[in-house]
Amino acid sequence: MVKKERVFTPKPKSAFLSGTCVKCGTENVFYSNATTDVKCKQCGEILAYKSGGRVKLTDSLAEEVKRLDYA
Ligand SMILES: [Zn+2]
Repeated sequence: MVKKERVFTPKPKSAFLSGTCVKCGTENVFYSNATTDVKCKQCGEILAYKSGGRVKLTDSLAEEVKRLDYA
């Protein structure tokens, strides 16, 4: 039997993302591992769905999603 070593579960790298709502053009900043659906602050369009881990980006989000580095 293989000796069980202490395994560090690699945490999925979470970050703050910045994306533009294609519907109204508003830039929204949200957490990549948000536990609730991400809605556009301006028009309420769902930009990303919660998925238990990383959110799933929807088509309502402009192609380019920036990753914001937090110090
Ligand atoms: Zn919007």
